[in-house]
Amino acid sequence: MPVGTVGTVKGTRFEALESEELDARIILGNTYHLWLRPGAETVAACGGLHKFMGWDRAILTDSGGFQVWSLGDLRKINEEGTEFRSHVDGSPRFLSPEVSMQVQAALGSEIVMVLDKCAPGDAEHDVARESMLLTARWAARSRARFDALQKEGADTGRLEERDGLSGAQALFGIVQGASHLNLRRESLARTAEIGFDGYAIGGLSVGEEKSVMYEVVERIAPVMPKEKPRYLMGVGTPEDLIECVGRGVDMFDCVLPTRNGRTGQAFTSRGKLNIKNARYARDTRPLDADCACSVCRRHSRAYLRHLYATGEMLASILLTHHNLAFFLDTMRRVRQAIRSGDFTRFRQEFIERINSGIE
Ligand SMILES: [Zn+2]
Repeated sequence: MPVGTVGTVKGTRFEALESEELDARIILGNTYHLWLRPGAETVAACGGLHKFMGWDRAILTDSGGFQVWSLGDLRKINEEGTEFRSHVDGSPRFLSPEVSMQVQAALGSEIVMVLDKCAPGDAEHDVARESMLLTARWAARSRARFDALQKEGADTGRLEERDGLSGAQALFGIVQGASHLNLRRESLARTAEIGFDGYAIGGLSVGEEKSVMYEVVERIAPVMPKEKPRYLMGVGTPEDLIECVGRGVDMFDCVLPTRNGRTGQAFTSRGKLNIKNARYARDTRPLDADCACSVCRRHSRAYLRHLYATGEMLASILLTHHNLAFFLDTMRRVRQAIRSGDFTRFRQEFIERINSGIE
């Protein structure tokens, strides 16, 4: 899922996301940002997030919990919820499971996330356990408020029944527990007991070693409910996607393709390419000879480097487009490989190639 933090996948038009080239079926919106600006009431008054943005495909909204947690000393977390000050105007705010469900109902996303509490990647057992238990209590409160809102007719803003979807929202639970596998297992049991439409692994990619992340995913993903989607939040690089699919994950979101595109970094089948590098000044080859995207078909590294060096906004737009094409195409190829029973070989070749270095 490309990330559309404030209702825009930065540097990309929706036509491009819908085009055959990218074909993004679902994007992510950040509840925290949209709640503060333009505000949930404003989005609701404009007919919900789909109509507000002009995007008819699926949207997943996060709970806002991660952004609020990331405010550090600027927030106070207790049983009821989290008090914090808006980074926009300094106004005092309060985020609870009930508030998060109400905001996400007003946004009208297809997939709603429960409010959870992250723990630092290196959190001690006691600290991680406390966060995990609070997450379980908040999950039950999220579920209760969500169900009540659905009865009141909260939906995705697409009232006509389409593609077998009722228009009602789906709710995903989140497994926490930092790097402690026994806590992760307990969190999964408590979350699955409440019952959700999908399950996410949260609280990874928050400063822990990569090997820790892989181990948690490897041990937890295979024991998550088989018939429900498994979503690894906030991860990751192309290698992470392949490695975590191999460990049983179905869904990902990450800002890397868009954010790094804006800072001059291209993801390619042979690893990362930094367009700022002087060695590309007269390089007439495309970013990635194996990429079929419109940027690689039309433009050279030399031209992209020139655009970046002169501060042209087109540099960000083109690099973002290529990066999104590369990530989304990688996942399409993953799905194909799984369907044809070829994933193990695909994974090995992909990893070997991406580590082989830019030519
Ligand atoms: Zn490309």
